[in-house]
Amino acid sequence: MAKSSFPSNVHVLKPRAMSLSDRLDAFLEKHALTPNDTPVRCDPTRPKARGINAISCASCGQAEYLTRDYCRCGHYLRGQLEDEFLAWEDRIAEEHEQLAETIAHKLRRLRYLNLLSMPFMVLPLIYLAFLSEGLSLFPMFWMAVGVAIMGACALAEQHLQKPIEASQCFLNTYTFETFLEQRIVSREVIDQ
Ligand SMILES: [Zn+2]
Repeated sequence: MAKSSFPSNVHVLKPRAMSLSDRLDAFLEKHALTPNDTPVRCDPTRPKARGINAISCASCGQAEYLTRDYCRCGHYLRGQLEDEFLAWEDRIAEEHEQLAETIAHKLRRLRYLNLLSMPFMVLPLIYLAFLSEGLSLFPMFWMAVGVAIMGACALAEQHLQKPIEASQCFLNTYTFETFLEQRIVSREVIDQ
């Protein structure tokens, strides 16, 4: 499951566009309007820990620019970032598997429910073939119920499969860039 190969574009990291909130923070800082809850920057030459271009060094704990291969303490940041990427890959693959398992379980239960429609389809046919002497609406009504159950099950199945299709699509199309973007998003979610 664990991949050891790397996308070739990993080594051409470019500085990422600053988001509006980053620019607003920079403006507030410049004009000494920084709100109190903004994290204090220990070293003005280093980026802010939460910035889109920052990585938190695992060795000294300080924020460093994402584009630098080495932290100012000598720690190999590119290696750290690659490790984080591999861990992230493993995590999304695992999450996908868990989702697939949950949905497969629901689908199995749905198929049992679908079996319920069988008597509604089969019994009227038996009735029509062997027991009925005249034309009756009763078997038709039963079959309509059976068809309704089957239709509802087919719709529910389609609905259940949507998240797994979306997840599979994400797994097929993610890049190293996706990882860099998600790093920021997941950190914001954790902070809240
Ligand atoms: Zn460091």
